[in-house]
Amino acid sequence: MNAPPLRAFLTARYGRGFRSRTEIEAWQAAGMARLRKTIMPRSPFYAAHASRPIADWPLMNKARLMEHFTGINTCGIHRDHALEVALRSEESRDFSPMIGGVAVGLSTGTSGQRGLFLTNGRERALWAAVMCGRFWPAPLLSRQRIAFFLRANNALYESLSNALMQFRFYDLLSDFPAHLPELNRQNPTVLIAPAQILGLIAKAQQRGEIGIAPKRIISVAEVLSPEDSTLTETVFGLRPDQAYQCTEGVLGYSCRHGSLHLNERYIRFDRDVIDDETGAFCPVITDFTRESLPILRYRLDDVLIPDPDPCPCGCASQRLTRIEGRADDILWWPGVDGRPRLVPSDAIRQAVATLPVPVRDYRVIQQGERLDIWLDTSVPEIAGPALQHALTRLAAGLGCRAPAMQVHRGLPASPDAKRRRVIVKRA
Ligand SMILES: [Zn+2]
Repeated sequence: MNAPPLRAFLTARYGRGFRSRTEIEAWQAAGMARLRKTIMPRSPFYAAHASRPIADWPLMNKARLMEHFTGINTCGIHRDHALEVALRSEESRDFSPMIGGVAVGLSTGTSGQRGLFLTNGRERALWAAVMCGRFWPAPLLSRQRIAFFLRANNALYESLSNALMQFRFYDLLSDFPAHLPELNRQNPTVLIAPAQILGLIAKAQQRGEIGIAPKRIISVAEVLSPEDSTLTETVFGLRPDQAYQCTEGVLGYSCRHGSLHLNERYIRFDRDVIDDETGAFCPVITDFTRESLPILRYRLDDVLIPDPDPCPCGCASQRLTRIEGRADDILWWPGVDGRPRLVPSDAIRQAVATLPVPVRDYRVIQQGERLDIWLDTSVPEIAGPALQHALTRLAAGLGCRAPAMQVHRGLPASPDAKRRRVIVKRA
């Protein structure tokens, strides 16, 4: 491997990134060659594919990776054994168990499908190096207090603890308000949390329940909506950085300019384009750095909207306009010409944000031909019709028809609605 942690740290911190697409392609060609030579032969499942073109490799997703887990991993770990270790550690909230030097993690995505992942010491060090390199506040050698809100801890994150940092893990499976006194005592310099949790923390600070002063705020694990970003910025005076990451890897992070770039240094992104007009695609990733559980030609459910313009930061890695969310949650409205149109959730947000009256929060749920709109506002009689009007206009602008709309007061109680603002319900 050519990405030792120190170099990864320096590149993430001081590197100017790739200057051109040509440079990225050359780098990735070397990454692919290394993958074929040193990693694939060690995986019983992939060994025979090492000499075949990537287009012939099996297309992976979470379910298929689980199905072939025993053959795919290069550590000889049986799926049942890994699952047992992971479940035991989830249940006891004790995340030290490992198999040999390999940490086992469990992920449950928004789809509810369970996924196992493995990380060896080298992969954990590399992850920490990239994250610290990019996000460590200056000056470099000042001690930091890091607060990390996560659904499940695992040895990957524990590896961050050392003499330079006090690391505190907050388990999202415990009651959220119960964490606030401890968070206040810790007064973290770096706050890392999923986007909507950042929103909750900002609200707690706004209400005076806590008084923390982080120097760096990093949104991880889910899409940072403009609402949560703005709220966090208003309350703490800091724009949150974004790490677009999931158990499959660190897929991207925001640059100094605030744009999100794909992490093309470590991952090759092929595109499953779902909308020609915007270029929206589901990424199919091949990770050059993962060796214990190779992630090869793995299709994610997220929909990414590429930004064709170069970033002022000078890095040529693909810039994203935004992450649209899960493919299942994309709104498609019928076009007047018969071709369905992708309706960006950002356009819906914009419509809500520009209403003539204040709206605290909202949900838009599409079910078949019907759109249920939930508005948390004290003036629903004004906000409701105004939003219907705005969405009708939005549809006309996109060359499509808005579905029949029904406006409700307040927010729905479904667990889905806690996580996402735009939801598509399938029959
Ligand atoms: Zn940039």
